[in-house]
Amino acid sequence: MILTLLWTLGTTVGAAALDNGTAAQGRAPGICSRGDVVVQSANPQQIREACEAVYDVVTYFDGIGFKIDPHVSIAFRGDVDAKEGHKHAHGSYDPAGRAIKLYARERARPWGEPWQDVRGSFIRHEVTHAVVVQILAMHGSDLPREWHEFIAYAVQFELMEPSLRDRILERYSNVAPARALTQINPFTHGLADPDTFAVLVFKSYRVFGGRDLVRRLLTAEFVPTPLDRMMPFPPN
Ligand SMILES: [Zn+2]
Repeated sequence: MILTLLWTLGTTVGAAALDNGTAAQGRAPGICSRGDVVVQSANPQQIREACEAVYDVVTYFDGIGFKIDPHVSIAFRGDVDAKEGHKHAHGSYDPAGRAIKLYARERARPWGEPWQDVRGSFIRHEVTHAVVVQILAMHGSDLPREWHEFIAYAVQFELMEPSLRDRILERYSNVAPARALTQINPFTHGLADPDTFAVLVFKSYRVFGGRDLVRRLLTAEFVPTPLDRMMPFPPN
């Protein structure tokens, strides 16, 4: 009952794009008003930032026709422990456990920006992974890993503060959009540094349909070319 009330409140206030921090966060500490989301943190600012991220991502997918209540836990961790093997990760999403972990990368400067200016965008990135996995599961389909990353980076950039995003795109003016979507493949994803891949993704997303491209990927109206058809190897 309380959650339903907060959902309605969230929709009304959020639609006006006013301080959605208040609306995004439920009354109980660590419970967001949208979806089934628990934030594991005693820090009110982290809880607010996580719930705002959930709100923004859910609103994005609402806008392209997917009504989704994310079912996920979000935990804030300390700086990355190299032993965990996530030395360069800003966060992770575990589909089996429906769990997001976020790392404090205070000294990291993704795209040359101070961490505090971009950390919220990485929460949106991980929440997008969670929502995409849920949508694909509902349709009984899946996408190659690089296309999961494509959608996560595209939504991350789409939801960024425009002045921050413009500054990053300006700094990476040497990165051109893909000429064809076959350029999004395991090699470009695996070999490019993540910051450059993210910029390639967002520029390509804009050229190839933006939100509608994401919608078509999720409904399988657009199916990425499989790798073996992309680069035929000669028979041995
Ligand atoms: Zn990712």
